[in-house]
Amino acid sequence: MARIAFIGLGNMGGGMAANLAKARHSVVAFDLSEAALERAEAAGCERATNAREACAEAAAVVTMLPAGRNVEAVYTAEVFGAAPASAVLIDCSTIDVATARRVSAIAEERGYDMVDAPVSGGIAAAAAGTLTFMVGGSDEAFAKAEPILSAMGKAVIHAGAGGSGQAAKICNNMVLGATMVATCEAFLLARKLGLDPQTFYDIASQSSGQSWSLTSYAPLPGVGPQTPADRDYQGGFAAALMLKDLTLAMEAGTQAGADTPMGRRAAELYAAFVEDGHATTDFSGIIRMLEARSEGGA
Ligand code: NAD
Repeated sequence: MARIAFIGLGNMGGGMAANLAKARHSVVAFDLSEAALERAEAAGCERATNAREACAEAAAVVTMLPAGRNVEAVYTAEVFGAAPASAVLIDCSTIDVATARRVSAIAEERGYDMVDAPVSGGIAAAAAGTLTFMVGGSDEAFAKAEPILSAMGKAVIHAGAGGSGQAAKICNNMVLGATMVATCEAFLLARKLGLDPQTFYDIASQSSGQSWSLTSYAPLPGVGPQTPADRDYQGGFAAALMLKDLTLAMEAGTQAGADTPMGRRAAELYAAFVEDGHATTDFSGIIRMLEARSEGGA
């Protein structure tokens, strides 16, 4: 199987690299964190002493880094030049569309096939190998990246040219943020109007108000399937990451000249929730902030 460099072995990358090793790829891993490197080694990866060393002789380079500035720095200072020209470069981080396009244009100039391949699904899906990848890049780059991404996910979808994966990701998560806020306020209003929450769930999940936020991720404990609401809003998708994605969507909207009033309101509400000390709370926990505002008459 292929020799794969994996850079960024955090909450998401750790599980993803382990799945590549499990699929019998030869994974050479690098992270700035010693603890992350030790976990990767225990999961069957070989450790490198720096990113350049990891990239040498790699058939593919996969990165899973926090933000656009990390991605740009790692590719320009480490990956380009160190990876063979035949390697496919796969950035799975969630970053701004402009940086994704810029880095992929430099890659192309230098003769590399590169895709942006951000994911839908959280830490549990990364560990289980059930992520969805939305991929931007040429047909040739997609064809090279697809078998590697398939070892880490349940769906790999070609979204279009370089940057299109990031565009799809932030548009999807803008819908998610806005529908979660709308779902929370509907449950709170329904309760104030005397409706039993489970009854409202049974009706709305089979009516035109249904969405993933409502049907699969109901924000009240004991309503619908098991969700982070049943675990005091721990685990799941952190509010800080939802705020990050909404902020990226707002930046992209401004640059593209798109009016996104619902996305903007969701971003403002998540900013207030995070500022209130809920950065690591699951994003559906925003129902508590909305509830407190209702109680306070705000
Ligand atoms: P994380 O902070 O847990 O992991 C990032 C890792 O990158 C860290 O281990 C860090 O040490 C490493 N790193 C940073 N700079 C580096 C460098 N120059 N060289 C080598 N390693 C470096 O973050 P995460 O939760 O794994 O998220 C990674 C990406 O996935 C982010 O872009 C995030 O938005 C996206 N994402 C996260 C989730 C989630 O639920 N956590 C879901 C979907 C998408």
